[in-house]
Amino acid sequence: MEFKVSELEREPIDFDLELAPGAVDFGDEAEQAGQLAAAGRAEVLHEHRGPRDIVADIRLRGRFAGRFQVPCARCVEPVEIPLGADFDLIFRPAAADAEATERSITAPETEIGYYQKDSLSLVDVLREQVLLSLPVRTLCKPDCKGLCPRCGENRNNQPCNCEEGPSDLRWEALAGLRSRIKS
Ligand SMILES: [Zn+2]
Ligand SMILES: [Zn+2]
Repeated sequence: MEFKVSELEREPIDFDLELAPGAVDFGDEAEQAGQLAAAGRAEVLHEHRGPRDIVADIRLRGRFAGRFQVPCARCVEPVEIPLGADFDLIFRPAAADAEATERSITAPETEIGYYQKDSLSLVDVLREQVLLSLPVRTLCKPDCKGLCPRCGENRNNQPCNCEEGPSDLRWEALAGLRSRIKS
């Protein structure tokens, strides 16, 4: 779905849709599981920078919700999590900020992005919003044992026979801390 400035100039456009998995490419960071719901409104906001300098910004407000599979931070097995967020975004024409000008919009709640030529792609916005909403770190379970750093075995499935050694970085860091405290 593309929002064209010329169409938005006539009237705001409300959207309420469900995107099937595959409609948006989220790369390696997340895989859509089930429908991605997105609803909101696109409209034009005119920034009056001078009598002959009016910039047509697109304001996109709405929300999305869906389920996604993301890799566990320790064992990289897929974990299904719900993601959802509200957004309120301003997009300027890419050329409008070429020269530094005083900005007439100073809404702290909104973020500024840019649209190319004369239209804004909803899919592009959703991709970015979904990726921004990803938790910093997802674990399949709080006590995920992770992958063995030596043989690569998923230690949740079966213990491997590798010796627990200094290859576990967390223990190394802890040991280093202890020796520093002692000295
Ligand atoms: Zn895990
Ligand atoms: Zn191992």
